[in-house]
Amino acid sequence: MITCSDAVMRLWEYLDATVGQTEREEVEAHLSLCQRCCGELEFAVELRRLLAASGRKDIPADVLRRLNQTLNQTLNEPPNEPPNEPPNQSLNEPPNET
Ligand SMILES: [Zn+2]
Repeated sequence: MITCSDAVMRLWEYLDATVGQTEREEVEAHLSLCQRCCGELEFAVELRRLLAASGRKDIPADVLRRLNQTLNQTLNEPPNEPPNEPPNQSLNEPPNET
């Protein structure tokens, strides 16, 4: 099984259909299991569609660099779910009336 980074790195080649059969299957296998990379795939497909619509054949280097930066950040960040529960509140505190 390939990692998320591997999958993302091969994503563009995969979309270009320049990867071999084995790599293609590896990417597809990963995408079918990994929700996270599925989102990246949709994003990449959409971006490619925009580029195709504007008549560009290649992704501009700076766009690609920024994209890779974003993807790297996304993939390197650990899942960070904020706690739903409020911090412990002392419910047993007796009323303090004097
Ligand atoms: Zn993944």
